Amino acid sequence: MSINAAEMPEGFGGEGFYATSMSKAIGLARANSIWPLPFATSCCGIEFMATMGANYDLARFGMERLSFSPRQADLLMVMGTIAKKMGPILKQVYTQMAEPKWVIAVGACASSGGIFDTYSVLQGIDKVIPVDVYVPGCPPRPEQIIDGVMKIQELVKNEPARRRYSPEYQHLLEKYQIG
Ligand code: SF4
Repeated sequence: MSINAAEMPEGFGGEGFYATSMSKAIGLARANSIWPLPFATSCCGIEFMATMGANYDLARFGMERLSFSPRQADLLMVMGTIAKKMGPILKQVYTQMAEPKWVIAVGACASSGGIFDTYSVLQGIDKVIPVDVYVPGCPPRPEQIIDGVMKIQELVKNEPARRRYSPEYQHLLEKYQIG
């Protein structure tokens, strides 16, 4: 099998070595070994089950290892209607996850409360935790969930190694009273 590599700029490549930045190497490793925590409360969770099944096979992205322990997960996937009573629990799960961590709001309910504009339903999980990617739809098709996951991979790949220590990130967490 022949492998073609892109031309390296002068001084950055040669026989037996390849130079890149540490940040990019870490980003590439992280993006292809994400451990998701599925927080599924209703119908969107069923779409996620289809996404994990043989037909769509999220394992192709290095994500076959689902974690039901927040401490061993780095991607929180929230799928379904989140009642206001459940908000503090969702926040607790998020805070128990180690940094760096990312969040996808899957479907209209997790993104905005969906059709449930009522006294008891949280009008979007971003009321209690920061969200990185929103997937629209009621429910979204597995293709849309995969698209959301690929957008997370892009974020992970390109995230500077120091972002989590930046004042902007600390400010974001403070806004959610997480710290
Ligand atoms: S967005 Fe639609 S399909 Fe998803 S949990 Fe809400 S009501 Fe169910």
